[in-house]
Amino acid sequence: MQKKITIAIDGYAGCGKSTLAKALAKALDYTFIDSGAMYRAVAFYCLENNLVLEQDEIAEATLIQQLDQISIQLGSDQRVWLNNQDITEVIRSPRVAGIVSKVAAIKAVRVKLVELQRQMSAAGGIVMDGRDIGTVVFPDAELKIFVTASIEVRTQRRLEELRAKGEVVDQLAVEENLKSRDHQDSTRAESPLKQAADAVVLDTSALSREEQLSWALARVALLVTD
Ligand code: C5P
Repeated sequence: MQKKITIAIDGYAGCGKSTLAKALAKALDYTFIDSGAMYRAVAFYCLENNLVLEQDEIAEATLIQQLDQISIQLGSDQRVWLNNQDITEVIRSPRVAGIVSKVAAIKAVRVKLVELQRQMSAAGGIVMDGRDIGTVVFPDAELKIFVTASIEVRTQRRLEELRAKGEVVDQLAVEENLKSRDHQDSTRAESPLKQAADAVVLDTSALSREEQLSWALARVALLVTD
């Protein structure tokens, strides 16, 4: 039997990390974990429980007090549950995207979610995507991929994704959200987004999904075959 490894995929917003991670997990028969969905779930909890104040400030102290009441589940079908409510679609809304990076900057939130991410991965054979997977969650992951793409390509892909869901979207607003999240995610004090020293870079700007998957599978093959 081939050895099962841990694959960490990090990078900027809208680069196609989750799409690649999902395809890779399917091809390898591994478990895919979308860590961003977990931060989005906490952001959604804040919106639902009046923890988003004026100018989108987060009521941090109250959120920290309530963290134990937040239960997040990721189904094998990729559905996302918050305290038994299916929030798969709503966490992709511009409103959630607008505040998630503020929520993700709170240390106590990260401590809770990182612990959960490690628990979910205990069985091995994991592909997890996010911002701090190769640097903090799994610093010993056998394969670390840092994904990038031009802002133009990322904006276009995100627009198409949202339009396909029937959302009315403004190109400039989408671009601004991606840039603002990248800025907040890269400059926060807790586990900022950065390339791990031992990560390999994948620029997806000019690559199809199939090309990205082939590239990643070739990397895996180098590690699992002796
Ligand atoms: O991956 P996705 O774009 O869904 O992530 C949403 C947000 O969650 C990111 O912009 C970032 O603020 C936060 N996040 C994080 N650490 C992770 C995954 C996501 O801070 N591992």
